[in-house]
Order: sequence, then structure tokens, then C-alpha cells
Amino acid sequence: MEPAFPQPFDAIVVGTGPGGASTARALARGGLRVLILEQGSAAPLKGTLGQMATMALPGKGAWLHRDASLLVAGSALGGSSALNFATAAAPPLAMFAAHGIDLAPALAALRAELPLAPLPDRLVGPMATRIMAAARAAGFDWRKLDKMIRPQACRSGCWRCVYGCPYGAKWSARDFVEQACSHGAVLRDRSRVLKVVMEDGRTAGVELEHAGRRHTARAPLVVLAGGGIGSPRLLHASSLGPRHAPFFSDPVVAVMGSVDDLDGGAEVPMAAGASFHEAGIALADLTLPRTMYQAFALQAGRVDRVTAHARTLSIMVKIRDEIGGAVGPRWVDKRLGPGDRARLAEGVGMARRILEQAGAHQVFASHHFAAHPGGSIRIGAGVDSELRAAPGLYVCDASVIPQAWGLPPTLTLLCLGQRLGEGLSSGAASR
Ligand SMILES: Cc1cc2nc3c(=O)[nH]c(=O)nc-3n(C[C@H](O)[C@H](O)[C@H](O)COP(=O)(O)OP(=O)(O)OC[C@H]3O[C@@H](n4cnc5c(N)ncnc54)[C@H](O)[C@@H]3O)c2cc1C
Repeated sequence: MEPAFPQPFDAIVVGTGPGGASTARALARGGLRVLILEQGSAAPLKGTLGQMATMALPGKGAWLHRDASLLVAGSALGGSSALNFATAAAPPLAMFAAHGIDLAPALAALRAELPLAPLPDRLVGPMATRIMAAARAAGFDWRKLDKMIRPQACRSGCWRCVYGCPYGAKWSARDFVEQACSHGAVLRDRSRVLKVVMEDGRTAGVELEHAGRRHTARAPLVVLAGGGIGSPRLLHASSLGPRHAPFFSDPVVAVMGSVDDLDGGAEVPMAAGASFHEAGIALADLTLPRTMYQAFALQAGRVDRVTAHARTLSIMVKIRDEIGGAVGPRWVDKRLGPGDRARLAEGVGMARRILEQAGAHQVFASHHFAAHPGGSIRIGAGVDSELRAAPGLYVCDASVIPQAWGLPPTLTLLCLGQRLGEGLSSGAASR
């Protein structure tokens, strides 16, 4: 096997989602020589269905469970953040403090630099506005959500967030990778890590595949950030983790209904919503591009609604599911438990009330799907409170979230990565 790189590295980061990108940036800023490996492509985002399909269809980033529900994740530079809805939620500080992890300093620093605010009214689309008015009239505490979007670059009447924003309006982890590279980090895309190399009980580097050939890259420090599915697989492939890892996914159902006096369908999704923390339910407007809407309608057997995209209001019902199922070496499977079904049913009931208040008819719900795989290498179980899995080996992505979740994870993962990268480069965290 040939070495992939002639130059020496202090650290290798595997995966460029929010966890990996923020760790890599902090390590590079701290003066370490960092190699960043990403299995997906770094091609510029075009905001097209065709490009999105190369990042997130089954066989690329997404997985089909045995109950035919889809688990979507992005396999590209930036990970799922290249395709996500850019909604930000503050990390639950107490959950991490219980494991001795203080995320407050990283959160304060990130808040000061990231575009983090509700959308200005001009960017809140007509469907989100209609749903917000109906939800409030129905008694819900429905508020605009914080978005990681630069309003000055964002366009009204645009639907491309989930295809990958080509205008630089939506923040993605690509921004932090770029900054890591400006501090000397080396990025190699289309490079799939196969396993971690251990020598004498310590991390020594990784084996990877690039352009059909196998290589090794050496460094005494490796951070796995392949996401809630990728990282447990890498641990297992390296004989450092179990074959099957249970996980959460925050399942979602879209509840849709048509109105006769709107002609829309092109707007930023999740502009506003309401959250019921104790119940583990969150609701938000969810206007998706026409093709995605049509796929939902067809999957729900509503052929009659396929042409109704421009007048169909859509509400996302997301729940905090119990940890279960398994990420296996080649498959992923998780079915809803009785508690999950009850939560979804309660949320769907709320969404139906809002749509009724909005004057919608022909209301139907999609099959459930999910986009937040995590909790598969939990802090306190698979890694310690320094996120260490073995000497010289760390994990920093949605896998390490310590318990059932139900929140937009991105900002939390950025905080974890910043804390880990700063700790490792300053020597505060033991290597
Ligand atoms: C459609 C959609 C909408 C979403 N909306 C929101 C939202 O509004 N707000 C929010 O906070 N979150 C949202 N999310 C979820 C959020 O984007 C993810 O939770 C987050 O990106 C997870 O970050 P991560 O660090 O775990 O890594 P990921 O983003 O999962 O990235 C992991 C990266 O590692 C790479 N990788 C994996 N294995 C390997 C390997 N062996 N070798 C090399 N590279 C590898 C993958 O290709 C991928 O690029 C959404 C997700 C989706 C799909």
C-alpha cells in the first residue's frame, strides 16, 4: 500500500460535516498540520436536483429502513449541512454539563461569528406566513426560528436550500473547511477512509481509498467525524467498536393540505415553528421543492395531489425518538417504537388543527422519514468526556450526542468541534 501524502501531518480529520469542519478549523488555527479526508465531492454547490441526488439518494448518503422509511444524510463536502434547512438551536448545555463538558464558551464565540438570527420578514415566504398566522390563531406559541442564513445574499422566491445553496446565503460546514485550509489544512475529497491504523495500542493514521487505489495517511491524532452512521462503522471496521450500534434519528412526518388562494411553493423551509420539549415534539413550516413534494404525495398514495404543490401548505412534525435499531456494517435499520408512534400521532394532530385553521382541505400525511442520525457512539459509553475512543483517536459528530435528541444538531456539533479542536491543539485535552 502506498503512502498517500509525502508531507507529515499532526492530525487527520475524517468527514467534513459540522463536527469535523469545526474540529479541523480549530486544530489548524492552533498550528497543527491537518489532513481533512471526505468521501464525497467538493464540487461547488449548484442548487440542482441532479447534484443533490449525487449527495443524498439511497446508495449515496441516504438509507432505506426495512419499513420503507428513508434516512437522509449528505455525502459531500460539508456533510448534511450542504443540504440542510439551516435552522439553529442552542445546545442543551445541561445535557453536556452532566458529562463534564462546558459548551458555553464555544457557543458564545460561535454566536459572535455565525449568521444566526430569524429571517427578516421579506424572506419569510407566503406559506410560512399563512401557517404562522393559523398556528397563532389556533393558540400555538409559533415563533420565527433562528436560521444560519446571510439575509443579504438570500433571495425570496427561491427553493434551493435543500438542493445546496449556490448563492453563498446559507451557512454550511464548507465555510469552516475553507477557513481550516486557509490556516494550512490539506483537504482531499473523494477519499473514503476504510479504517483507523493502530500501532502498539496507539493511533497511527488511517487507510483510505482514493480513485480506486488504497493508501495510508499517517498522523498520531485522528478525529472521526463521519456522522452518526459513518463513524460507528469506521470504529467497527477498525475493531474498536461493536458491529451493531443503536441510534436515534428524530423522525419527521410532513402534514400537507391545500388552500385555494395561494400560488407559492418556493421559499426557505422552517422559517417559524413551535416546540414542545417535554413531549418531544417540534413543528415548523416545511415548504419543499416541487419534486420532493411530488415524491411525498406519491409515496402517500395521493396521486390526486401531485399537481397541487403551489397551493399546498406543509407542516413538519418532528419527534425525539428513543435510541434503538442498529447501524450495521452495510445497512441501517430502525423502526418506530410505541412511544415514537404516540408522539408522531400527537404532533400530526396539532398540524391538522393548524391546517384546518388555515382553511386547508385534502389534508394528508407523508410516510415518516428522518435526517438526524446520531447517538451511535454516545459520550459516557462509546467515548469519554474528552470524546476519546482510544489513545489518539477521537469522535466528533452527531454520533457522540449522549441521549435521545429531537433538536437541530448543527450548532451543538460546531460547539463540540471547536471545544475539541482547541483542547487538542493547546494540549488541554490529553492525546
Ligand atoms: C435535509 C436535511 C435537513 C436538515 N435540517 C437541519 C437544520 O435545519 N438544522 C440542523 O441543525 N440540522 C439539520 N439537519 C441535520 C444536520 O445537517 C446534521 O445533523 C449534521 O450535518 C450532522 O453533522 P455531523 O458532524 O454528524 O456530520 P455529517 O453532516 O453527517 O457529515 C459527515 C461527513 O462524513 C463523511 N464521511 C462519512 N464516512 C466517511 C468515510 N469513511 N471516509 C470519509 N468521509 C466520510 C460523509 O460523506 C459526510 O460528508 C438536516 C439534515 C438534512 C439531511
